[in-house]
Amino acid sequence: MKLCQLLALSRALVVLPTWLAALAQSSPQPRKALICLRYDDGLESHLTTAIPQLNSFNLKATFFLNAIKGSAEVIGQASPALLGWKKAAQQGHELGNHTLSHPCPTALGWPQEVAIEAYATEQILQEVRTLDALLDLIDTQKTLRAFAYPGHNTLVASQDYSFRLQKEELVQYGRTGGNRNSVIKKF
Ligand SMILES: [Zn+2]
Repeated sequence: MKLCQLLALSRALVVLPTWLAALAQSSPQPRKALICLRYDDGLESHLTTAIPQLNSFNLKATFFLNAIKGSAEVIGQASPALLGWKKAAQQGHELGNHTLSHPCPTALGWPQEVAIEAYATEQILQEVRTLDALLDLIDTQKTLRAFAYPGHNTLVASQDYSFRLQKEELVQYGRTGGNRNSVIKKF
């Protein structure tokens, strides 16, 4: 899947499906299923469109961030994105870890500098630790975070780094793809 397709998919997930909105408005019933709403990559549209829509239906979602994008244009003003994610956490949305630089294969269009081919396991683990520390400053209510593998890829240097995530208790669970075949590794 090309980068543009990935981005298009991410944007497509911003719009709240009407069936889901209807479900949220229906009267409470005994729960027979659980739907997890998750948004990857910390896009600005998540803050401007998705979260307001979710809030209007009193729905909560998990946002897997790989950076805190955006900055204020005026010195002395806080980053709108930083304030936005802090507010999202206060509203009950979950902030998850998606690594700091979201390394993916060059075949998907990633620049050489952050391509997964150039990574060592220690490097990606350090990114997870670093983003965890950053998220802990934004969201003080959570200590162990959900994790989404960038590009749904569990391999670094041909080795599955899930074991290190688990062994070092860095994350609560690891999630790969976004469809029914997704693998969720609960640690
Ligand atoms: Zn991603």
